[in-house]
Amino acid sequence: MATLLICEHDNQSLKAATYAAVTAALALGAEVDLLVAGEGCAAVATQAAQIAGVRKVYLAEAAAYAQGLAENLTPLVLDLATDYSHLLAPATTQGKNLMPRVAALLDVGQVSEIVAIESPTQFVRPVYAGNALASVESLDPVKVITVRTTAFDAAPASGGNAEVASLTQVHDAGISRFVKEERAQSDRPELTAARVVLAGGRGMGNKEHFALLEALADKLGAAIGATRAAVDAGFVANDTQIGQTGKIIAPELYIGVGISGAIQHVAGIKDSKVIVAINKDEDAPIFQVADYGLVADLNEALPELAKAL
Ligand code: FAD
Repeated sequence: MATLLICEHDNQSLKAATYAAVTAALALGAEVDLLVAGEGCAAVATQAAQIAGVRKVYLAEAAAYAQGLAENLTPLVLDLATDYSHLLAPATTQGKNLMPRVAALLDVGQVSEIVAIESPTQFVRPVYAGNALASVESLDPVKVITVRTTAFDAAPASGGNAEVASLTQVHDAGISRFVKEERAQSDRPELTAARVVLAGGRGMGNKEHFALLEALADKLGAAIGATRAAVDAGFVANDTQIGQTGKIIAPELYIGVGISGAIQHVAGIKDSKVIVAINKDEDAPIFQVADYGLVADLNEALPELAKAL
């Protein structure tokens, strides 16, 4: 039994999701090897080799892997797959793009978004928008798994001394090409990594009212999040959406303003350490999951809060 984890990185450093996924990989109880595929990413492999508990790091450098195109990474993972009982990746956009291809070509079922490991063959994953947890067993010879990284602590970044082995094979499937990347420019922390998240819902009323949240976010060093209703209404960009079809977050503090607490939104916030809700409707479902609730009109509460901070 051995586990291969596909690392997520930006060719310069490992993403936080990778460290959490290493913890999941180690919990399987077998040796853990990592794959760092990219271009000019030798420093990432060195970083990966320092993670405590890792046995070996495979480094695959080629232009074809630069942007992590799943079409090119899939055959690379399949090259290595024969030596492993478990193939893991974080359940990020990239992991969700890559692993189903790997599972399909290995002719096995994928176990998606695991939140706990009961044994090397049995895993826990959320179902019904996170309202229930299912214990699932995989009888496939190779388990292809994506890991919900908010459910696992980050593995220690140092203490390891793994061997780095370079892979020479290059796979360019030639069926996709990287065109461009447009990144939202923000001085604020990234939503899924932020310590504090301030989220607004349809109750914010309009785009301009989100400026009130931004002023507060600046004071708290927080990231801005939103509900699907707020995104659909055009109040904020869609990369701020939190929930079942948005981002899953687990900050130390989440403050939801003008958010009713629909299950699809709560699915994305319920692992937050402390949940605060501000809503003018005392019967809003969000108060059922909130640690602290303030029944108030946000137009009064937000300026007051900003003043107090
Ligand atoms: P509403 O439900 O309209 O709530 C607005 C709240 O604001 C109300 O509770 C109201 O009392 C309060 N309010 C109004 N004015 C004020 C004021 N002045 N001061 C204080 N409070 C005020 N939603 C997500 O968020 N994320 C998802 O990923 C997601 N995925 C979905 C997937 C599917 C398949 C489906 C069907 C739905 C999904 N949704 C998702 C939508 C979800 O069901 C809800 O419609 C949405 O979360 C509601 O957003 P909201 O709370 O902003 O709006």
